[in-house]
Amino acid sequence: DIDPLNLCAISVVALPGARILPLTPGLADDLFEHDGQITKRDIRAVTVAALAPRRGELLWDIGAGAGSIAIEWMLADPSCRAIAIESDPERAARIGRNARSLGVSPLQVVRGTAPEALAGLEPPHVIFIGGGGSDEGVLDAAMTALRPGGRLVANAVTLELEAMLLARHAELGGRLTRIAVSHADSIGSMTGWRPAMPVTQWSWSK
Ligand code: SAH
Repeated sequence: DIDPLNLCAISVVALPGARILPLTPGLADDLFEHDGQITKRDIRAVTVAALAPRRGELLWDIGAGAGSIAIEWMLADPSCRAIAIESDPERAARIGRNARSLGVSPLQVVRGTAPEALAGLEPPHVIFIGGGGSDEGVLDAAMTALRPGGRLVANAVTLELEAMLLARHAELGGRLTRIAVSHADSIGSMTGWRPAMPVTQWSWSK
């Protein structure tokens, strides 16, 4: 009843209730099983664009949560591979379920805590840090493991990680972006903008 790869899902012939996935990143949050720890769709779309998937590249998604970034990376092209690193066992299991239900079951899930869990993994072309970025040694280990010419994107919601990213930017350059998204929501019988927590994003090429 579901065609997760969107191979033959043309809306006029889709079965009633079939889930038809768009081809661009920024899938609806409720297409993923999650516990609230998920990069929301607008920020996810901007983030996958910053990661800029290219054919055959390997992504490390550090602090992968529900796996939404690694999954959308893999959906960009069948040749794109990803390793999701997640310390919480329940979330690590959930990443596998999300990958299967969205048609990217080859996603490799590593249940473990960065930076220790990164040791021995195949060196990546691209790294996303969505969790654990302020933990001792994580940024350094990621930047060391990254292949020459590789790309790193880190999203900070906390001031602690933001401060670390500002310092890296001052030292190494790259691109700093602040993403602040609001959605219309009800205020009693009226409507107003409800802001999501702003994200500071640092993108850097090695
Ligand atoms: N980008 C994810 C959401 C990340 S939430 C998504 O879209 O689904 C941040 C996650 O990082 C949490 O699940 C947390 O358990 C994990 N995490 C925090 N520190 C970590 C570390 N040092 N190593 C691995 N995972 C970590």
